Amino acid sequence: MLNVKRVVLRSRPGKDGLPVPENFRVEELMKSPELKEGQVLVRTLFLSVDPYMRCRMNDDTGADYLLPWRLGEVVDGGGVGVVEASKNQALSVGITVTSFSWPWQTYNVMDGSLLQEVDPEMVDGHLSHVLGAVGMPGLTALLGVREKGHVTPGSHQTMVISGAAGACGSIAGQIGRLDGCERVVGICGSEQKCQALVTELGFTAGINYKKGDISSALREHCPAGIDIYFDNVGGPISDAVISQMNPGGHVILCGQISQYNKDVPYPPPLSEDTQKALCHKNITRERFVVLNYIEKHAEGLVQLSRWVKTGQIKVLETVVNGIENMGEAFCSMMTGGNIGKQVVKITD
Ligand code: NDP
Repeated sequence: MLNVKRVVLRSRPGKDGLPVPENFRVEELMKSPELKEGQVLVRTLFLSVDPYMRCRMNDDTGADYLLPWRLGEVVDGGGVGVVEASKNQALSVGITVTSFSWPWQTYNVMDGSLLQEVDPEMVDGHLSHVLGAVGMPGLTALLGVREKGHVTPGSHQTMVISGAAGACGSIAGQIGRLDGCERVVGICGSEQKCQALVTELGFTAGINYKKGDISSALREHCPAGIDIYFDNVGGPISDAVISQMNPGGHVILCGQISQYNKDVPYPPPLSEDTQKALCHKNITRERFVVLNYIEKHAEGLVQLSRWVKTGQIKVLETVVNGIENMGEAFCSMMTGGNIGKQVVKITD
């Protein structure tokens, strides 16, 4: 018998409510892990908390590719772990595996079809990076910039990133720099984060949106206007950025986290002034969804792995310990408690 700890959804915050750790409940039980043909027993090493999970806390997620979490049932998301027992010929004991639908449990019996094998070499043994820089957030940054950013080396472009110190933003800005932008300016929520962007990640400047006037800081740090905007947050921050964009610029519509606790459709409606600015200046603003580029993921992961291994991309991470703290970690990430990717370490 195995002692298993798991996290279930206890209550919903409501469409307009702030999520709180008490929306989750930790349970402990004894389980006998009986495997059927094709299944494996996995021990969880790291679990991811991500902004899209806020939608899964509603009874209607608003997106056809996301199912709501069910009350009283085990929550799931990105995870990485190790195979401890196997009745699946393709997945042998001891290998590392990952999945987008990893139940928040210390041990899981999972169908092999839900798992992908991970080569620990790809992340130099840092297995949490499978959930961050060399995983879905890294791919979001890479493919978002490459598919929607129109970076042209040598053309002195300025890129602005909101949510710049988070999992996707911190990588997107570094890719903008590597791909040839002349200035890469990040907007984020603290002085400490601004400092990390510049000193650790090589951004040109960091702007703390919680202090001072964003518009004047943007004018100071983007003297030639803004050509590319990697938008993670939406709302008034994005209105301020778009108002200073150059004609023919490009908005990479990655996410709108500032609106996720509101009952609005995705993408949320824009202010009239911002709509006019986009139209008059012929700025593209196409929705980007990383899952729409599955065929580019394998190659993208190889590129990200190479950049991280050679030190061209630096990885920032905030690690919390223990499955008991999943709810805390999720709520902290939603309110800016993380620098870089927020992960939770479950077992050694
Ligand atoms: P992050 O690691 O960036 O964490 C979220 C961050 O959002 C917080 O750290 C906080 O940083 C910031 N934030 C929270 N509330 C606000 C607010 N009201 N205004 C401004 N900033 C806020 O998360 P991810 O990198 O995982 O995700 C970033 C964005 O990318 C999200 O919008 C997410 O939905 C989107 N996404 C989109 C994907 C796609 O395929 N399109 C795939 C993955 C993610 P701070 O201290 O700076 O406020």
